[in-house]
Amino acid sequence: MASPREDQLAQGVWPALRRRGVSRREFLKFCSVMAGALALPHTYADRIVQALEAATRPAVVWLEFQDCAGNTESALRASHPSITDMILDLLSWNYHETIMAPAGTAAEKSLQDTIAQQKGQYLAIVEGSIPLADGGVYCTIGGRTAIDIAQETCGNALATIAVGTCAAFGGIPAAAGGITGAVSIGQAVPGLKLINLSACPMNGANLAATIVHYLTFKELPATDNLGRPLFAHGDRIHDNCPRRAHYDAGQFVQEWGDQGHQLGWCLYKMGCKGPATNYNCPRVQWNDGTNWPIGVGHGCVGCAQPQFWDAMTPFYRQLPTVPGFGVEVTAQDVGIGVAAAVGALTVGHAVVAGVRNARTARATNQATAASGNATIAVPTNETQTTEGQS
Ligand code: SF4
Repeated sequence: MASPREDQLAQGVWPALRRRGVSRREFLKFCSVMAGALALPHTYADRIVQALEAATRPAVVWLEFQDCAGNTESALRASHPSITDMILDLLSWNYHETIMAPAGTAAEKSLQDTIAQQKGQYLAIVEGSIPLADGGVYCTIGGRTAIDIAQETCGNALATIAVGTCAAFGGIPAAAGGITGAVSIGQAVPGLKLINLSACPMNGANLAATIVHYLTFKELPATDNLGRPLFAHGDRIHDNCPRRAHYDAGQFVQEWGDQGHQLGWCLYKMGCKGPATNYNCPRVQWNDGTNWPIGVGHGCVGCAQPQFWDAMTPFYRQLPTVPGFGVEVTAQDVGIGVAAAVGALTVGHAVVAGVRNARTARATNQATAASGNATIAVPTNETQTTEGQS
């Protein structure tokens, strides 16, 4: 007969993965990828392996309020085997409206049973914002308002993970003109032990890494002043962007499909919000690491930042100038103000890069003339300054 310890291990993460057909090689690779996602030294992969072999799966309840289910899709849609497949096995899924088999009162009983029987031990994952206007009538589930459910469920949880910008910051439902009084889970239920995995949607790899961090180190990862994990939001996209050298050289796409676009130049003038956005998109990427928006030629839309959408639209317009911020100011330091600072930042760059631009333009035009192609309109110092201030 198995000992209690053996019974516990049988319920653990690794046995669950094995039962779903995950090979030992895939498991070790997953642990290595998680160490990378957490920005840990490679040697930490062994520690993650040991932790996940012994860890029991925490129960999770996933609440959906004012949302599009995009974060659910991001977490669960993937090819096999993948990081997001692993998420299913890292957790014991007690309640998730979109994927659970029970419906109606049976489904709500699963939630109530978890709250009653595992008080202070389960993870609450919240997707979507919470409407507070008019008594919360704009989002009700099973006859209860979202705020009522959130207060009870998150208030009794071990910790709450807000997935997506709607749950983390209010998102699109909280944009100007909204009538529902939408707020984030942190605003709706103050005082929670909370981590914000913002972005629209959040990357499933970051959810897996957050859970792996908790299972390995028995605590949630360190966060920035917006409650976002530093491993995912510690750096600006602009600082890790493969097009950054073109920004520094003053080489900008001027028009969709122009030669600069074909050559992979910087998308700042096409409205890229990468300089104002803290996220690990360049490192983790999407669709099992296949690519990411800037990688396929579209600017960053700043979806991981507070006040997305209002502060980051129009998506294709260069951000306005707000003088006073330097090139190394981060989005989290100045909030949305830095988005506007990008214009000023580029003005400064234009001055520094002006001489280089002229040389680059001459060299490029000579090269393209020699090859018989049309010349590329490389911005001069003067035009960059004008556009940067527009
Ligand atoms: S502005 Fe956008 S495309 Fe250009 S370097 Fe920065 S993040 Fe990359």
